[in-house]
Amino acid sequence: MPRQAGRHFLQIPGPTNVPERVLRAMDMPTMDHRGPEFALLTLEILKGLKQVFKTSADVVIYPASGTGAWEAAMVNTLSAGDKVLMFETGHFATLWQVIANDLGLDVEFVEGDWRRGVDPAEVEARLSADENHAIKAVMVVHNETSTGVTSRIGEIRKAIDKSGHPALFMVDVISSLGSIDYRHDEWGVDVTVGGSQKGLMLPPGLSFNAISTKALEASKTATLPASFWNWQPMIAANKTGYFPYTPATNLLYALRESLKMLLEEEGLGNVFARHRRHGEATRLAVRAWGLEILCLDPEEYSAALTAIMVPEGHDADHLRKVILERYNMSLGTGLAKVQGRVFRIGHLGDFNDLMLAGTLSGVEMGLAAAKIPFNKGGINAALDYLTENP
Ligand SMILES: *Cc1c(COP(=O)(O)O)cnc(C)c1O
Repeated sequence: MPRQAGRHFLQIPGPTNVPERVLRAMDMPTMDHRGPEFALLTLEILKGLKQVFKTSADVVIYPASGTGAWEAAMVNTLSAGDKVLMFETGHFATLWQVIANDLGLDVEFVEGDWRRGVDPAEVEARLSADENHAIKAVMVVHNETSTGVTSRIGEIRKAIDKSGHPALFMVDVISSLGSIDYRHDEWGVDVTVGGSQKGLMLPPGLSFNAISTKALEASKTATLPASFWNWQPMIAANKTGYFPYTPATNLLYALRESLKMLLEEEGLGNVFARHRRHGEATRLAVRAWGLEILCLDPEEYSAALTAIMVPEGHDADHLRKVILERYNMSLGTGLAKVQGRVFRIGHLGDFNDLMLAGTLSGVEMGLAAAKIPFNKGGINAALDYLTENP
């Protein structure tokens, strides 16, 4: 491909744009991960991470992508043949179910149409019907990155409580951590699974488990094999600021910097409000274009990304190709079931009004260039909203 001048617009919903200062924070000599300086770095990061998860419980950090932290959540708490309840909200929920199957768990997978989040009433009904408490865990994706639908975790917690069922509650926040409000303690989540490369504005390579006392208790009797993922040696070593094996030291420098930006300089409340505002502006543009938002329930619109359907007979991947070639912008592809039918605009991470204006301009020009029928003026609708709602 010929060189494209100017900055590339990386508007996929993760990995997201990494701020320059986070990149610079990583540009450090490798440190002795058994030395005293390193212990201080770990302890500072663990303190900040707890604030992001809104928990006082243990949080562990793996040198792995988010998928590793999913596996960790299961192998630490469950035993072969255990029944688990999962919901087909989209591609990521489906992948989580594949891991559960691979590990020998017995998955009750509630089918979905990829346009809605998890229905709390359905959770309550399934758990209430499970009188013998065969279900050991309920696993939900908070922000389904393949569809732009955010499930209501607080309401799902209430549904579990209403059923009186003792199952563990596990939630994937890989694309919502640091972009959408999330409360591990308040929502009574037992294992929260996070990742570095989305709302936290870091390169890929770190993932997290936030672990409730109940989950820690379950880990003492769980029999799925866990070695690399085992929580116990990790938590024990973390107490003094160390790891049982070599941590991703330079990514931890980056994490310290991003935590400082999110918690101290911008404030989590402001970070979430910024994402909500960009989500709203994006949806106003989509409606003005006359295109359809994949998410059906306005209560479940994602603040992190918007998945948009192209009209019947048109190919969303062709549109993405035209936009990449002409305007040097990457948009998210339609994954699996919605391949070619949907494209996704990521508006999460290190992102501001003018970046959104550029992103939406690229989409509007791309729609015309790809000869997809649409109405002009989406950008204006978004800009008006941003101007009127500073
Ligand atoms: C990105 C993502 C994953 C996958 O994480 P990897 O880091 O690619 O392993 C899982 N769940 C959700 C919701 C995601 O957005």
